[in-house]
Amino acid sequence: MPHPSPGRITPMSSLNSGTVLSCPECGMGLYLLVKKVTRDGAFKDAVKPMANVPEYMRGGAGPKRCPFCKVGEWWYPPGTVHTLQYGWVA
Ligand SMILES: [Zn+2]
Repeated sequence: MPHPSPGRITPMSSLNSGTVLSCPECGMGLYLLVKKVTRDGAFKDAVKPMANVPEYMRGGAGPKRCPFCKVGEWWYPPGTVHTLQYGWVA
């Protein structure tokens, strides 16, 4: 999947608790934010995996693929993520 074009990314300084990180391809919810996070992208300890989604692991390289469709990539460093509520945000 190509990186989303800048015109499709909404700048947000933080993401509130209750935001769902979701797959841009199939739309499945992947991780629920259980507390507010700022855009430095530190999701560890702030996200709860949805059903049948592996625990979020910090670090590692590159975009992370959706475990359901194996196509969608919901995260691009340094902090662009796809959300159910707002689409792509950075
Ligand atoms: Zn997917």
